[in-house]
Amino acid sequence: MSYIDPHVHMVSRTTDDYERMALAGCVAITEPAFWAGFDRSSPQGFFDYFRCLTETEPRRAAQYGIAHHSWLCINPKEAEDPVFAREVIALIPQFLDRPNVLGIGEIGLNKNSRHELEILEAHLQLAADRNLLVLVHTPHLEDKRKGTRLIMGAIRNQGRLDPGRVLVDHVEEHTVREVLDAGFWAGMTLYPDTKCTPQRAADVFEMHGTDRLWINSAGDWGASDPLAVPKCREEMRRRGHLEEVIRKVSFDNPRTFLSQSGRFRVEVAPTR
Ligand SMILES: [Zn+2]
Repeated sequence: MSYIDPHVHMVSRTTDDYERMALAGCVAITEPAFWAGFDRSSPQGFFDYFRCLTETEPRRAAQYGIAHHSWLCINPKEAEDPVFAREVIALIPQFLDRPNVLGIGEIGLNKNSRHELEILEAHLQLAADRNLLVLVHTPHLEDKRKGTRLIMGAIRNQGRLDPGRVLVDHVEEHTVREVLDAGFWAGMTLYPDTKCTPQRAADVFEMHGTDRLWINSAGDWGASDPLAVPKCREEMRRRGHLEEVIRKVSFDNPRTFLSQSGRFRVEVAPTR
């Protein structure tokens, strides 16, 4: 069964990972701009990163029949210096018309600081001005709920962004309900044993349903698993979920949300 991984940092992964994902049924991915495992020393470092996300990775993915899409921003971990961050934001518009760019992301908060919030607001304005989809990162620290509320407030205050065109990622048991009730889409990031595991994600589907909710691997430079989405599907099968439900959370939901951009491509139709 084909699947989409809507949040995976392939710049940090090997070509072998692309091959394993393709063998597991991956037909499309989206890669948000994020921290690269180190702080970049100049805005030019982001210029090269954006070229990688819009030129190099699509080519690598295509070798395995995977359609690659990207989101652009300066992530909250590197947004503590607002002057630096605004220089990076100024680089983004020249990339927005590239054919694999879906929108702005992953933006949000890391430590919920004032500077992070200021730069989040600047990104939201860019998204609103260009009518772009938004992918939101919520903090992994203990104040995830506070950060999630601050971010949803910033989006509401912006006034021109439709929550149905915003996905709030890294939700967990204590934040998913609020995000969905506010009209946003929500994503669960699956990690091998920390944060949200495939088992916990299956629990969340059983408790909160499957509407406007997706799963992703967030595979990156740290301990993570680019096959987390197919592993979660196996967990759902073990629990007796119907194939149509499994397909909904791993293919139909991401396709529905991402297709709002007009640029999302899925080359291979699901077989089931
Ligand atoms: Zn990420």
